[in-house]
Amino acid sequence: MKKRRKTIRPEAIALLAILLCTVVICLIIVIKKDPVSPMTDPTGESPVTGAQTSGQEAVPVITAPEEISVRAVTGGAWEQDDPQDLLALASAADETGKSYPVTLEGEYDLSKAGVYALSYVITDNHGSRIEKALRLTVLASPFAADGTLIDGEYITDNGHSLAIKGGLAYVDGYLLVNKSYSVPEGFSSTGDCTRSMVPEVMEAFQRMRNAAPASIRANITIRSGVRNIADQTVIFNNYVRNDGLENALTYSARPRYSEHHTGLAMDILTSSAEESKQPATAAVLDWLNKNAWKYGFIQRYPENKTEETGYIYEPWHYRYVGTELAEALYNNGDWITMETYFGVDSFYHTAYSS
Ligand SMILES: [Zn+2]
Repeated sequence: MKKRRKTIRPEAIALLAILLCTVVICLIIVIKKDPVSPMTDPTGESPVTGAQTSGQEAVPVITAPEEISVRAVTGGAWEQDDPQDLLALASAADETGKSYPVTLEGEYDLSKAGVYALSYVITDNHGSRIEKALRLTVLASPFAADGTLIDGEYITDNGHSLAIKGGLAYVDGYLLVNKSYSVPEGFSSTGDCTRSMVPEVMEAFQRMRNAAPASIRANITIRSGVRNIADQTVIFNNYVRNDGLENALTYSARPRYSEHHTGLAMDILTSSAEESKQPATAAVLDWLNKNAWKYGFIQRYPENKTEETGYIYEPWHYRYVGTELAEALYNNGDWITMETYFGVDSFYHTAYSS
């Protein structure tokens, strides 16, 4: 029987070897050309397009905000951090680092509330326009040029509603008194100068007092409740006389700017920083700090919040706001100030005259 033997010719082996080498070389070239696939780009940036496809052409890009909100400027009395030099917020450059002059097109008026559609514009190397839209919102200001309040409806810096009615400020319906928002001349919380707390506040205060452990309860007393404007004038002037105006302003309100006018605020047990550190007093203040929110009271001037409230730490000063807001501001023990929560400031917009 004839046996057919399959033999592999040397030519075939050589061909196979050449083929294999070609595949390997091709693979190496592909990997070298694209060491990092765009899908796994560690920088997270999408692959550059456009700028590289047009030969050596560099495409300038405008870097600028798309949206800005500023408060209307009223006679320079509004001391704001809001950016007013809109051009300074924009720049333009291409990837070679060359920068391009930016202009701002469109009309706007920083003293008039409204929404303005503007454009940052640059001209590229071929004289073509490149633009980027800017939506500028100028919010109405509740302050007149002399810093006094103007009755009306406003929006706060973080979008809460602010109403000035009869010279009183209400944010989402909550009466607000601080260095920016005063009570009007002749104001009295009850209308008859009886110097009594608002009844709802007294009821909440009694509930809180009854809930406290016996050792604390007897010491939950109102050291200072309602003060009328005349009271505050005497108190403030005394501080100024003894401690100087600058110091007095850090802990005492100018007449018409004290929360004590409202019948919603009280100093409990003490009004003194020194006294508040004594163990018996500190124990009461500590209980209040942890529990007052359950009865609708907030610590109005918490520690390390002077920049927000305008006042130094006053662990004795409580303000009634109701349980809903009190719980939000208590924030599990990390107090949020009314100013930060509502997006309002606290500094004197009006000049002081004794
Ligand atoms: Zn007080």
